[in-house]
Amino acid sequence: MTFDLTPEQDQLRDAVRALGRRYGHSYFVEKARAGEHTTELWAEAGRLGYLGVNIPTEYGGGGGGITELAIVCEELAAAGCPLLLLVVSPAIAATVLSRHGTEEQRKRHLPGLADGSQKIVFAITEPEAGSNFHRLGTVARRDGDGWLLNGRKCYISGVDEAGHVLVVARTEDSSTGKLKPALFLVPTDAPGLTRSKLDMEIVSPENQFLLYLDDVRVPADALLGESLDAGLPALFAGLNPERITVAAMGAGTGRYAIERASEYTATRKVWGGRSIGSHQGVSHPLAHAAVQVELARLMIQKAATLYDAGRDLEAGVSGNMAKYAAGEAAALAVDTAVQVLGGAGMTTEYGVATLLGAVRAGRIAPVSREMILNFVAQHVLGQDKSY
Ligand SMILES: Cc1cc2nc3c(=O)[nH]c(=O)nc-3n(C[C@H](O)[C@H](O)[C@H](O)COP(=O)(O)OP(=O)(O)OC[C@H]3O[C@@H](n4cnc5c(N)ncnc54)[C@H](O)[C@@H]3O)c2cc1C
Repeated sequence: MTFDLTPEQDQLRDAVRALGRRYGHSYFVEKARAGEHTTELWAEAGRLGYLGVNIPTEYGGGGGGITELAIVCEELAAAGCPLLLLVVSPAIAATVLSRHGTEEQRKRHLPGLADGSQKIVFAITEPEAGSNFHRLGTVARRDGDGWLLNGRKCYISGVDEAGHVLVVARTEDSSTGKLKPALFLVPTDAPGLTRSKLDMEIVSPENQFLLYLDDVRVPADALLGESLDAGLPALFAGLNPERITVAAMGAGTGRYAIERASEYTATRKVWGGRSIGSHQGVSHPLAHAAVQVELARLMIQKAATLYDAGRDLEAGVSGNMAKYAAGEAAALAVDTAVQVLGGAGMTTEYGVATLLGAVRAGRIAPVSREMILNFVAQHVLGQDKSY
């Protein structure tokens, strides 16, 4: 067993850290406040090969795994730039395409995802179904050669920045008559696809949308994979990368907050010559948060290692645990950082309260802490399912 990164992974970490620090949290916040996107950072990360680290080399990627992509997510977040679209486009969409897309779909989409010139976002959540994906109401019906899609999706991130949305719909299985999931690559400018921006209490340059699909007609090759049978495995293929990279983003955000707070408490003096960090009432909560973040990082490393070794089932357990741990640790770290900074913690200048909304959302999305606890109770502890 080793806890060391390979020399290449170390280099990647250092290089992404340097890139993230050149932009920093103030850039991220300025873009968010201006209603703009982190276009320059995304483009540069793409040019340097960081967005495609997990994409096979034959499609323009780096040929690495989720370990490498998690490094990118964590280091950009640790520099104050937690980019949710890294989770959506390179982690979910690129993995689903690499593993289950047709050769034509891989050739068409993966090079653009790898160099950052293209983004594909992911739409599964629906207003009525919520956490219960078995209740998905978006339906795809055959229409001549192609498909007709109807339904509604909510909280879909980055639709305004993407060329395509990977829409999860249900179809009728011609052999059993039962409904089964299928994924469709829908252009964001497809006739019948409309969106409205949701106002979220999160300081982020990335936006969430309600999506309406009204008789959206797509050709046969918009169906992801060779046949309808690809739907279910493709849907599952995205889950582990999603959980692991979102956890890495949380751990990076936690590190960022603890670093800001530690710098402050080590130098701020209000009682004689001692720093406020010398008071254990200040330093212990910070140290506690640092322990939680580090524990989450260990679980992320385990989950990514298992996933990259092809051990999907074990990675599922570790990935869920990593996501849970990192979500809690990030929320704790940011809240603690705000507290030990005192009034400065609530200013925009010190750049920690700006993350409160994001880390709070990290305990809900992309999978809530309760649904992870359900998963662990059922699959690790052998408890009956209550729902
Ligand atoms: C910032 C942000 C970005 C997002 N981006 C995307 C995206 O790009 N694409 C996408 O498809 N979705 C996206 N989502 C949606 C996200 O995945 C959902 O919000 C999440 O899965 C929870 O679903 P819900 O909001 O419908 O909550 P609900 O299912 O309504 O649940 C509400 C609460 O009840 C709890 N609960 C529900 N069922 C159970 C149960 N059986 N046992 C115990 N507790 C339960 C939940 O844990 C939650 O706390 C995003 C959400 C946010 C906040």
